[in-house]
Amino acid sequence: MTTTRAFAAQSATTPLAETVIDRREPGPKDVAIDILYCGVCHSDLHTARGEWGGVRFPSVPGHEIVGRVTAVGNAVTRVAVGDLAGVGCLIGSCRTCASCGEGLEQYCEGPHGFQGTYGGWADGSGENTYGGYSAAIVVDEHFVLTIAHGEEQLAGVAPLLCAGITTWSPLRHWQAGPGKKVGVVGIGGLGHMGVKLARALGAHVVAFTTSPDKKQDALDLGAHEAVLSRDRDEMKAHAGSFDLILNTVAAPHNLDAFTALLKRDGTMVLVGVPDSPHPSPSVGALIFGRKAIAGSLIGGIPETQEMLDFCAEHGIVSDIEMIRMQEIDAAYDRMLKSDVKYRFVIDMASLKD
Ligand code: NAP
Ligand code: ZN
Ligand code: ZN
Repeated sequence: MTTTRAFAAQSATTPLAETVIDRREPGPKDVAIDILYCGVCHSDLHTARGEWGGVRFPSVPGHEIVGRVTAVGNAVTRVAVGDLAGVGCLIGSCRTCASCGEGLEQYCEGPHGFQGTYGGWADGSGENTYGGYSAAIVVDEHFVLTIAHGEEQLAGVAPLLCAGITTWSPLRHWQAGPGKKVGVVGIGGLGHMGVKLARALGAHVVAFTTSPDKKQDALDLGAHEAVLSRDRDEMKAHAGSFDLILNTVAAPHNLDAFTALLKRDGTMVLVGVPDSPHPSPSVGALIFGRKAIAGSLIGGIPETQEMLDFCAEHGIVSDIEMIRMQEIDAAYDRMLKSDVKYRFVIDMASLKD
């Protein structure tokens, strides 16, 4: 065991504060990483403030991790000491079920589900795990991603590990590309990556925002059009026209406003996980048009690597605002006001201050 500095929430109502956690000594298949940057996902906030229930405290959030490899076990082949590496939302799964076999470890059907980078196994069993708001982490090589971006881009790569893959996976699964009209709802951390990735995949991209000042930003991020979702006329102009809508909103809202915009056989994929349910969608709106509402969870390890390599090749990184670890609660408060442009990233050097 080695002790590592970290920031933890001790309960749902206490601000995050410095603490010390244990990391295991690297085993034969393990990779030890000094964390340089960690992105701040809205899921971190939902967790640290107990919004989803069932949270195990102390909680050390953070699943958008990039850093440098400091040690590897003798069976590790894919990375070496000195390499840049990433860790996303998953650090374990059964590795033998059908989903794991297809590289979709996030849907692991094993007895415990997947093992989250923080919060432990999906079924709540076993030990708690501590995420990226820390100086270092030790992870099985299978769950470590390689980074082809330049080192100077590293902070902007961190959010790809969750915001990037959570939007990439459904865009690929529902085949966003040339000839497809794709909507992205909520221009926050996930949404801004959804816009960039859907554009790079060749789709016609329309951003939906509740924030008037984000309309121009959405166009600058790569959207062909931007719509104020609270403006009925702007919404009506897109009725019945979308193949796919990716909805990243972190709060309950009226889904019918968006299913009305789908074409026949169109799908709206929900990736936002509000702390209380959406108002029930109208079934009629789905039946008349054979429309679907679906969900999607982060992404598997092979598709995460595919997304990282695609982003490196196309020069894609997240638009970030760097913060110090000590500023995390203020960052959460701004996130609740939709005031993030477009992802907070923690400079982990600040943990040493
Ligand atoms: P975020 O940066 O806070 O962005 C969410 C955006 O949603 C806001 O910027 C805002 O965009 C919009 N929004 C917020 N409140 C709204 C409201 N009341 N009505 C309408 N729009 C609203 O959050 P994030 O990190 O992108 O995460 C989004 C959600 O996805 C969270 O619930 C998170 O837990 C979840 N998540 C899910 C997965 C998965 O695997 N499915 C993975 C990661 C995160 P505008 O200002 O443009 O309206
Ligand atoms: Zn996340
Ligand atoms: Zn499995």
